[in-house]
Amino acid sequence: VGPAVRIADLTVAYRTPAGELPAVSRINLDLAPGSITGLVGESGSGKSTMALAMLNAVQKPGRITGGSIEIDGLGDVVSLAGRQLREARGGEIGYVFQAAQNSLNPLKTVGKQLLDLARSHHVEDKRALVRQAKDLLSRMGLSGDRVLDSYQHELSGGMRQRVGIMLALVLNAHLLVLDEPTTALDMISQSNILSIIRDVHAERGLTTLVVTHDIGVVAEVADRVAVMYGGRLVEQGPTTEVLKNPKHPYTRGLINAIPRLTGDPEVAQPLPGRPPTLGTIPKQGCVFRERCARYAADPREDCETTDPSASEIAPGRLVACHPVAAGLPVEAAPEAAEE
Ligand code: SF4
Ligand code: MG
Repeated sequence: VGPAVRIADLTVAYRTPAGELPAVSRINLDLAPGSITGLVGESGSGKSTMALAMLNAVQKPGRITGGSIEIDGLGDVVSLAGRQLREARGGEIGYVFQAAQNSLNPLKTVGKQLLDLARSHHVEDKRALVRQAKDLLSRMGLSGDRVLDSYQHELSGGMRQRVGIMLALVLNAHLLVLDEPTTALDMISQSNILSIIRDVHAERGLTTLVVTHDIGVVAEVADRVAVMYGGRLVEQGPTTEVLKNPKHPYTRGLINAIPRLTGDPEVAQPLPGRPPTLGTIPKQGCVFRERCARYAADPREDCETTDPSASEIAPGRLVACHPVAAGLPVEAAPEAAEE
């Protein structure tokens, strides 16, 4: 089974003209061995920064300013450097970063890039690796021979995305980090790729983190879900429970915006407003307050003064919201709305 991962108090900040601002604030998240966790949030929530941090690959002007990411058998990724870190990336940790469809080397065929990968990770049996690559490609509906002989410009966006997934899986990683693995694909290919990710995950017993803006992807692929907003983790728990009974007003808003998740396709409604950007994350109180329907209906003082920390409302079920932590329902009572 894949490694256990313990992310503790992780903070990542970016240097800006206004000072160093956190994009990810004190995140605590455990990935159970062999599980698939979906990390979901709108763009700008800090989730891609989290994916980069998992490989200690945050680029300047960003840096990890605190916390740790302990991976069984590898140690704290935050303190890895140099050769150890290079070998972990793509070796122990397979990854597909956002816009993977644009990340191939335009000057080399896919096959050449596969051999480069083999060399940098000291793979002895190159023929086995090529066989493995072709097998993965054919499972994703592509001709291995053709793709390995192709340059990036000869492949469609969806094909490049599949190549990215092949390159992430081919070295037998134990931990897999996928950032928006299916964004360049239509719905049918998306379902197909998600089911391949699930199959390979199960066959190899991986631990997987899927980062996505689409809570529908989480519903399809993840055992557990972690919801991010404004650099905070606002809710986490088993996917079925969170989808059935979201406890954080933001999670509820995300679900209500997706027709096929609401139960009644007619009632889907987009979450009003926009997520904060780095410079506009509120410095005081709850980061979601401006868009929070519950706060609008029942403005509590603690929402204005204190950044809510995560409370465990049931085993493995965490929510960072003051009224929910106090045992109140996620919908404010109608009387409160009229006060
Ligand atoms: Fe809304 Fe207050 Fe909960 Fe934040 S803490 S999500 S503002 S009710
Ligand atoms: Mg992103």
